[in-house]
Parts: sequence; structure tokens; C-alpha cells
Amino acid sequence: TTQESPLNLIIVPTPGIGHLIPLIEFAKLVVEFHKFTVTFIVPNDGSPMKLQRQLLLTLPETISSIFLPSVSFDDLPEDVKIESRIVLSLTRSLHLLKDSLKVLTQSTRVGAFVVDVFGIDAFDVAKEFGLEPYIFLTTSAMLLSLVFEMPKLDQMFSCEYRDLPEPIKLPGCVPFYGRDIADSLQHRKNSTYQVVLQLCKRYSLAAGIIVNSFMDLEKGAFEALMEGGRGLPAVYPVGPLIQNGSTNEVKEWSKNCLRWLDEQPGGSVLYVCFGSGGTLSHEQLNELALGLETSGQRFLWVVKNPNERAASGTYFGIDSVKDPLAFLPDGFLERTKEVGLVVPSWAPQIQVLSHCATGGFLTHCGWNSILESIVHGVPLIAWPLFAEQKMNAVLLKDGLKVAVRVNENEDGLVGREDIAKHAKELIDGEEGQLLRTRMRKLKDAATMAINPDGSSTKSLAKLAEIWKKQEI
Ligand code: UDP
Repeated sequence: TTQESPLNLIIVPTPGIGHLIPLIEFAKLVVEFHKFTVTFIVPNDGSPMKLQRQLLLTLPETISSIFLPSVSFDDLPEDVKIESRIVLSLTRSLHLLKDSLKVLTQSTRVGAFVVDVFGIDAFDVAKEFGLEPYIFLTTSAMLLSLVFEMPKLDQMFSCEYRDLPEPIKLPGCVPFYGRDIADSLQHRKNSTYQVVLQLCKRYSLAAGIIVNSFMDLEKGAFEALMEGGRGLPAVYPVGPLIQNGSTNEVKEWSKNCLRWLDEQPGGSVLYVCFGSGGTLSHEQLNELALGLETSGQRFLWVVKNPNERAASGTYFGIDSVKDPLAFLPDGFLERTKEVGLVVPSWAPQIQVLSHCATGGFLTHCGWNSILESIVHGVPLIAWPLFAEQKMNAVLLKDGLKVAVRVNENEDGLVGREDIAKHAKELIDGEEGQLLRTRMRKLKDAATMAINPDGSSTKSLAKLAEIWKKQEI
């Protein structure tokens, strides 16, 4: 380990494509602009992790990956919440992580250690090697504000948060009702509530928190988080970090989507996708189909197999065994073939959002999808499903005013009329035009943030300087 060799940044991602994608973009920046090398140490969530491997194994050699052996989840009940399973993937891999770090600290100049939103359990291991642990937050500053307020909220209230009559007001953030609080905090008796609360309590042990958002997007929240006297770790907004959209990377099968978009008029298509993990019940899937059909709008819809048990049905890998199109209403494909394209399971989202035919996005409000829409100036219909997505929807609709939001009826379903109304309004209506104009302003602000002298670029440079000084 000579002085001349580059510093190595260790990144430990927890399960979920939505965590890995921005972490990879972060790694690329640190390599390109600050001359680090990066090693990903990847806990195994028990699924084949095909997409994860594909993403990591095609990177330049300055970014390498170690895939830890699978740990067992056989003892977990079937209905365990995803947050618990994510945390356990890491907790049960800690001894393996330690072995890898032992080798790496002997063979490379390890200069920094980063985990993501659920990675706190790796802090002690990092500290054993003299490394200061940092968190890379793959979501909003608003969520980070909730993390730091959670111990207080837990003390203040004993009821379920959804039963609170008044909205919850976090410092500098748009208020939201308890029913929209992160999913993992909705059932206080469920063991996941305690798992997540304990994580929240330990967030302040981080040496710093890197956030994939930017000052001008969440000014109030960031200012409150950075205020002196609260004893919080340093916060570094470095976003928006999103995948770049080079079409060379698009697989042959998904080029169909782009060819189809090429034939549609500018701004006419509603893109419909619930991220890597989001699934609907069969009944809801049908309702959505009929809503799109009724709207008469053009649409590009990524359809996944229905899942009756959880709205996060494909979080641990997309189930490609069944044919999702077989679940659509009878005759739907035939009736909509002039205006719609339905693709099973996965679309090249970045390329779709950057295509000029795309005029709106019906999204589950995953944070990456939100940033990608902002960077491409595409207004939204918010249909949040799980995790912190309902809070994100509030930020989009009430805070930034770049989205409309669907309503669930008394049966817990989003009805076809609601879907049709929003689809028409977003693509063709006046309201849609207003949202689009605001979204384009955010797009400009996003571009500014990552300019060479933008706020996010500077914030990352500050962090890299700190890391270079603290090498072990
Ligand atoms: N994505 C994609 N094609 C799809 C679905 C998702 O390329 O059909 C990408 C999307 O562009 C984003 C990520 O997968 O980068 C999903 O992250 P997000 O935070 O939006 O949602 P999550 O999958 O974590 O629920």
C-alpha cells in the first residue's frame, strides 16, 4: 500500500435496485472527480440478484465488487415486512463483511466507508477498522428529517400515527398526515416498527449523511437539518444522481419501447411504471387497465404480475415466471393497440423519460423515479404504494406542486374514473400544463446543482477533502 495508490471507498449497499442505482452513480463521481477507487461489498438477500450483478459487473475496473455468500432467511415468517428483511440481510452478513474488510484494509488504502439508508448495523464493523461510517441516503431530506424526529414522535404519541387528527410538521418540511408516514412505521405493534425506530435512533452516530437530493429541491428541510445546535451529523446534498441515459446500454428487447415512442406525437404519452418493486392486486391491475383505456390517452405501461399479499411484490427480484400480460382484462390489448404499448416487467425508464413523446408519468413515487422525472422535466401522477412513497407524494403534490395524486375509494382501490380523469388532465389539461411548467423549473434547478460550481458538486468536493484527510 504505497502512498501513490488511490484511496479506496468501501460501499455496502442493502437490498433493492433503488439503493444500488444511485450508489453506483455516486461511486462513478467519486472515481471520476476525486480519484478514488471503489469496492462494493454486497450482502446477499437470498434472491438470485441478477440485475444487481449485471449492474455491478459491467462497471470499469476502478469500481470492483465482492458478493457475499447468501445468508439464510428460512426462519422468517412469510409476511415479514421488507424493511426487516433488508436489515437482516446485512445483520446476518456482518461476519462476512468483517472478513472482506480485513483483506481489503491490508491490500488497499481504505479511505472511507459508506452504507445506505438501512446500513447502520455495519457501523461497529467499520469502527473496528478505524473507519468513520457515512450514510448515503437514497431518498429525500424530508425522510431524513423524519428519522431525526422519530424518537420524539414515538414518545409524544401512543396511538397509530394514522389516527392523529393534525398533520405532522417536521422542521422545514411540508406537513403530512400520519396516514402518509413511512409504511414501516404504520403499525406500532409490528416488530418492524421497533427495528426501524432503533435505526432512527442510531442515525446520529454517522460521521456524515450524504443525501441524493439538492438544496433548491428541499431548501427548508436542508436548512433545518444543517442548523447548528441540533447535534446532528453533517449533511451533504449531492443529487440528483441518476443513471445516465446512453442508449448503447439499452437491450435489444427494450428498444421496442423507444421505437414505439418515436412514432408518437410530442408530449402525448403517459408512462406508467411502479418501479422495481411495486405490484398491484389483480383487481387493481384491471381497474388501471380500464382507466387507461377510458382516458383515451396514449400510454406506455410496464406491467408486472399481480400480487395479492404486498404492494412491494417484486422488491427482491422481478418474477418473470408468469406472463403478466395474461392478467389484463379480456380484449384490452386488442382494443388499445392503436394508442398503448404494454411491456412486461421492465422498461428502459431513463430513455423513456428523456423521450420527447413522453408527456407525463404515473409513478409509485420511488425516490429515483422522482429524481429522474425532475431531471427530464416530466410532470407526475402520484400513486404511492409502500416504503416512504406516500411522504414523497405529499412533497410532490403539496410541497413542489408538480404532481396530482390518485385517491383510493372505500374499497381501497383506485377507480378507473379517477385514473382516466388524471391521465387526461395531466397530458391535455390546463392543470397538467401548470405542473409541467413547474417541473421544468425544477429541471433547471437540478441542472444548476450539478454544474461544476453547483451546490451539490461543491458539497461532494467538501466531503472528498474530508475523506482524503482522514485516511487510516
Ligand atoms: N427502473 C427501470 N425500469 C423499470 C422500473 C424501474 O429502469 O421498468 C429503474 C428506475 O429508472 C429507477 C429504479 O429502477 O432508477 C427504481 O427506483 P425507484 O427509487 O424509483 O423505485 P424502487 O424500485 O426502489 O421502488
